[in-house]
Amino acid sequence: MKNANFYAGGGIDRVSVRRKDAAWLSEQLAHRETRFVLTWRGQNLVLTKDSTGPGAAFLPRGDFLEGGEPVLLGLWEDRAYFALDLSQHETPLERLGMAALEFTDLRRVGPLLPRGEGSLLAYARGIAYWHERHRFCGVCGAPTRSEEAGHVRRCTNAACAASHFPRTDPAVIMLVHDGERCLLAHKPGWPGGMHSTLAGFVEPGESLEEAVAREVFEETGILVDEVTYHSSQPWPFPASLMLGFYARARSRAIQVDGEELDDAQWYERRFLLGHNDDDSLRLPRRDSIARRLVEDWLKR
Ligand SMILES: [Zn+2]
Repeated sequence: MKNANFYAGGGIDRVSVRRKDAAWLSEQLAHRETRFVLTWRGQNLVLTKDSTGPGAAFLPRGDFLEGGEPVLLGLWEDRAYFALDLSQHETPLERLGMAALEFTDLRRVGPLLPRGEGSLLAYARGIAYWHERHRFCGVCGAPTRSEEAGHVRRCTNAACAASHFPRTDPAVIMLVHDGERCLLAHKPGWPGGMHSTLAGFVEPGESLEEAVAREVFEETGILVDEVTYHSSQPWPFPASLMLGFYARARSRAIQVDGEELDDAQWYERRFLLGHNDDDSLRLPRRDSIARRLVEDWLKR
């Protein structure tokens, strides 16, 4: 996919039609070419820097599979990939018994990885988080079990038997501009000088355009119209899908609440084009859709 955001566009075939095919699944699980994408307590397994890394560590089958519940991610470059979460183990690296591997936060290495690897790690992280948070039925409270190669959790109470599907929470992220200036904001707790686009979760009963306008108004007091879609990005930190927009400002006066944001400013396009990150202004991380929204707007 052309110009996909980081953690997307990896070219993974999710083969969803195979998720109920028990014979095919066991064949893939036993196959020596199959690879496992391991997660542990929100972190992904990667090669350490002093080996050949940073890179994703995809392991062939091994003893670490015992007692685990692999989740089919799909096919990538002619191989099947399964995610496996080792969070129940205190010392997962000992269990793997291999050198030059570490569990780390994907955001630390994500921008350095080839797209396919980044996409597989993000997918594995997202689905592991969902499994961990849905071990019990939200309807009746009974335990759930993993089915359909890990893409459904079914309630084990026969009288209930509710199916629960992996969740993704839609969040809007928007660059507000008035033609030649754009609005960037700083949140309490962010590194010094870092300013980014506004963002927020979509609420039940709300359209994406309404969510954009509401969040911008709540956080900065600015009114917007002409909300146009840019692109999306899976952001499993822990469970979001970022939906990127441009929005045109109808008012200019900024009012920040001091809680969600402690600063917001208008920045001239010309200024940003000539600026390098420093303590007064730092643009968002390179793997984020926020950065992409700013960079694409600067080129317009
Ligand atoms: Zn239930």
